[in-house]
Amino acid sequence: MHPELIKLELTFKPSILTKIDDPLLARYEIELWMKRDDLLHPIISGNKWRKLKYVLDHALSSGADTLISMGGAYSNHLHALAYAGKILGLKTAGFIRGERTETLTPTLTDMQNWGMELNFISRTDYRLLRQHKNYLDLPGLKPRQYWLPEGGAQALALTGVAELVDEIDISYDMLCVPCGTGATLAGMIAATPDQVSVMGFAALKNAGFLRNDVAALLPQPATHWRINLDYHFGGFAATTPELMAFIEGFETKTGVALEPVYTGKMMYALYDLITRHRFKPGRRIIAVHTGGLQGKRGFNI
Ligand SMILES: *Cc1c(COP(=O)(O)O)cnc(C)c1O
Repeated sequence: MHPELIKLELTFKPSILTKIDDPLLARYEIELWMKRDDLLHPIISGNKWRKLKYVLDHALSSGADTLISMGGAYSNHLHALAYAGKILGLKTAGFIRGERTETLTPTLTDMQNWGMELNFISRTDYRLLRQHKNYLDLPGLKPRQYWLPEGGAQALALTGVAELVDEIDISYDMLCVPCGTGATLAGMIAATPDQVSVMGFAALKNAGFLRNDVAALLPQPATHWRINLDYHFGGFAATTPELMAFIEGFETKTGVALEPVYTGKMMYALYDLITRHRFKPGRRIIAVHTGGLQGKRGFNI
C-alpha cells in the first residue's frame, strides 16, 4: 500500500464487535451483534473507508492528482473523499445533485472547507453521470484525474469490504448491511461462505434494481444473499416518527448511536423481523454499523 495511505490508516480505531444486550432479543432467542465500523474514524467512517481504501491506493499508485466523484448534499461518500483527498494531498471535485442552495448543508460546508470543488448539476444530468462506472470512464476526464462512480461502487471497493468480513472472529448465521448502491453488500457476499446468509436492507424506495447492480459487482455468481426492500420509510433519507423514536430508544438502551438514513432503518427492520418470528430461534446475526453519523446533522434529532 502507498505510504501516505498506511500513515492515514494508523490514525484509525478498531471496529469492534458489540453484542446488543437487550432482554427483548433474549426472549426471541436471537443473538444480535454489531460490527462497529462507525468507530473507525470520525469522518472517513464505516463502509466509506472500506470502499475507498484500495481505490485510493490505486489512484495514488497510478499517479492521479485529482479525485472526482458524485453524490447528494448529505453524501457520506463525498464527505469522506474530500477529507481523504485533503490528507493525502490530492485535489478533489464533486458533482452534487440539485441546485446550489444559499446556505450549504453542514456536509457540503465541510467539503468546501477541505478544498473540494463543488459542481452542482441537475437531477437529469446526475442520472446520466451514474452510467459511468469505471475510473477512466468519465467523458472529458484529463490525465491524472481519477473518476469514482456514485458511492465509490467499483470492483476495488469489494477488496476493502472483504477486510471487514475477515475481522469477524466469531461464528454467525447471518450478516446484515444497509444498502445505497449495494457495493458494500456485494463485498460482503463475495467474502462470505455459502453457509452464511447475507442480507441487505435498501435505504431507497423502488430499489429492485439493486439486485442487478449487486449481481453485476460480484466477481462470481452467488446465491447466499437477499435484499429486503420493505423498510425504506417512504424513500431515501425519508423518516417517520416511529423510526426516529426507535433510534432514540435504541441509543438509550444500548449506547449505540444510529443515523436515520441507513443503519437506523436496518436496525428497525431487524427488530421488526425478529418480533415477527422471521428468524429461527438460536440464530446469531451480525449487523454492520456502516457509520455515517455526520449525516445526522441534517436531521433535527
Ligand atoms: C453510503 C452508506 C451506505 C451505503 O453503502 P453502499 O455501498 O452504497 O450500499 C450505508 N450506510 C452508510 C452509513 C453510508 O454512508
